[in-house]
Amino acid sequence: MIPGLERYSLVCEGKRIARFLIAKTIEAEKTECNDETLKEMLKQHSELKKEFRKLVKEFDEEETDAGELEFPEYSFLHLKADILREMLHGCTFCERRCGVDRYTSKGFCRCGVKSYYASEFLHMGEEPELIPSHTIFFNRCTFSCVFCQNYDIVYDDDYPVNPEEMAKVIEIRFFQGSRNVNFVGGNPDQHAHTILEILCHVSLSIPVVWNSNMYHSEELAEVVEDVVDVWLGDFKYGQDSCAERYSRVKNYWKVVTRNFKRAYENGEVLLRHLVMPNNLECCTYRIAEWVSRNIPGVRFNMMFQYRPEFMVRQHPEKWKGIARRLTKEEMERAMEIARIFDLNLVE
Ligand code: SF4
Repeated sequence: MIPGLERYSLVCEGKRIARFLIAKTIEAEKTECNDETLKEMLKQHSELKKEFRKLVKEFDEEETDAGELEFPEYSFLHLKADILREMLHGCTFCERRCGVDRYTSKGFCRCGVKSYYASEFLHMGEEPELIPSHTIFFNRCTFSCVFCQNYDIVYDDDYPVNPEEMAKVIEIRFFQGSRNVNFVGGNPDQHAHTILEILCHVSLSIPVVWNSNMYHSEELAEVVEDVVDVWLGDFKYGQDSCAERYSRVKNYWKVVTRNFKRAYENGEVLLRHLVMPNNLECCTYRIAEWVSRNIPGVRFNMMFQYRPEFMVRQHPEKWKGIARRLTKEEMERAMEIARIFDLNLVE
């Protein structure tokens, strides 16, 4: 059993049911989706959420064979997907809160309604507790990091996602040995409507990993949290000025700490911190301190693979502080910080 990821471990062993599949067993009432009915849909959603929580507890009391589950034609999961599609008319999926109608225009992330992805495969380079992980790399991101390590994915639209076909791919990858399906990018948040639609077509109990920058809105968390088994969340910065300088985001600390707390209370978390040169005391130290006080025992991956990519490579003078790899001393200091705060480190 992996400390901090106990339920996830049991889902992997087939002893518990993935959360999205439990959501799919709850019958919901289909209403016509429009601006006026969104409030009604949200009301129904909060009622069914109580039922969902009770059901998860009941399911967790004993082993259930996922093959014996019955699914109504229209479920709590379908309702969630419909709510998200309606929310796209004034998008507040993330805390940029563009408010644009994504059916006709695009906000900061440059995403419309249709989602695109760059690749999907069985990833062996993720944390040991996740591999082999079926990673689906969506295009686009809600951040704009000057050191983006995935810039070839983020600033393009590669292949359109067909939810039904992608669901089949997820099931095929499961039979090929995936331990989970890992929605990543870029970032998954701006594609939440597509991801939930994909899950509506999946009938196997596969743990869902949400690999996010944790800058999503509370409205999005309210809908999405019930389908996520593991929040694989990035915690990059210990202060807002670093977040503004390197990723062009405001209010970073308040939003991300709020979201990590919520994820910790509602599911299981694997936190990733990419250690950056010259940012040990302002970011690594502050994050470790906050984690030990607020979400103790959480799985913590201290990552040393930072590379000065993208804009940093193009303008090394401008981004001087981070235009190099980490030194040995910085890596040692990061591990010392981990010891000071007794973090539950990924080996
Ligand atoms: S997901 Fe975020 S960045 Fe994209 S349109 Fe919505 S609010 Fe804007």
